[in-house]
Formats: sequence, structure tokens, C-alpha cells
Amino acid sequence: MDNTVLFNISYGLYVVGSKIDGKNSGCIVDAFMQSSSTPVPTVVISCINTNQTTEAIMQTKGFAVSILGKDVDPFIIGNFGFQSGRDVDKWANVPYELVDDLPVLEKAVGYIWCKVIDYKELPTYTLFICEVTDVLPGEGQPLIYGNYQKDMQAKALESFKQYEQTGRVPDPPAKWVCKICGYVYTGEIPFEELPDSWKCPKCGAPKSEFIKK
Ligand code: FE
Repeated sequence: MDNTVLFNISYGLYVVGSKIDGKNSGCIVDAFMQSSSTPVPTVVISCINTNQTTEAIMQTKGFAVSILGKDVDPFIIGNFGFQSGRDVDKWANVPYELVDDLPVLEKAVGYIWCKVIDYKELPTYTLFICEVTDVLPGEGQPLIYGNYQKDMQAKALESFKQYEQTGRVPDPPAKWVCKICGYVYTGEIPFEELPDSWKCPKCGAPKSEFIKK
């Protein structure tokens, strides 16, 4: 069976933040979906049973979802996806804030706070059925799981390897910013490879007005 066909299911990637024994916990989840919109919005999330964050959600029955964007620092994916919260405080490695005592990334496409109303425990994973208690918009375009597989997984592995070898959080990748209007380039083609005739989509400034940050 060619399981890569499943990569075409168009979900995104999310950092889930919860609390366990008063401490922050977090993991990466791809299986997250809205299951109803009325009378209140509900969502379903699937979490692996061995994850500390699954235990955290069981304990507190609450969590916050940070929706990852196309321009997410690949280290964030490695940090939350490739190590266990039992060994390291993952949140200490990234810019975050506590909202309603739940950790969320400083930068995300949007935020969803959830309260568990029911769950179904299966041998290797648990489905949590939740009420959405609050939402907040962020910035950018959501990262689609298939695009993560295609464009970002290697970068996430690479930056995580660097972190494991040096013990230091790698610098986020440089961004090209329009000096005139502040627009941040997030296109799929590397900025350096754009033609000289390319212009800022927001203010029309030429490519030469962009600086690397
Ligand atoms: Fe501009």
C-alpha cells in the first residue's frame, strides 16, 4: 500500500500546548479537524498515547492550538515533533506566551482554545472531542501537511540535528523584508532566484528594495 497517498489529505500542522502537573507541555499534531459549527464549534484531535501532551490533556481537559504557517521556522517543528517533553521543556526553546495559562507560539496563523467534552481511547492513540472556547487570529498562510512533507521535513530534521549536536537553538532562517512597506516574502521560490523584474506584491517596490533580516 502506498501510504504517501494519505499525505494528500489536506490537513495542516499544529503545535498543541497543554499543562501537566502545572508545567507546560507541547507536541506537534497533524490530525486536527472541525467536527461541527453549531450550536458551538467543536473539533476533534488525534494524539499519540505515548506523548506526554496526551497525558497532559487527559489531566487538564484543556489545550491551545497554534496553527503553523508556511513560513514557520523549521526548528519549531523539530523541537515539538522530534523529542519528548519528558526529557526537555520544549516551550523554553521557542518564543511563546501563556494565554489562559496555556502556552501558545508568539507567531502563528491563528489560535484555538479547546475544552475536552469526550474522548475515545484506542490502543495507540486517543481522539479528543472538544468544544472551542476561544479563538484568535494570527498572521500568514497555513502550512499544509503535504507541503511540509515535500518542502520542509528535511529542513526540520537538519535544524533539529544542529540543536542536538550543539545544544543550542539554531537561529531562525533569514527573511526578506520590503524596506518600503514591511512586507515579508514567504513565496516558495527562494528570494534570490526571483527575476530582477519581480516587485513587492504589496507596494510595488522593486526587488532591490528588499533587505535580509
Ligand atoms: Fe513593499
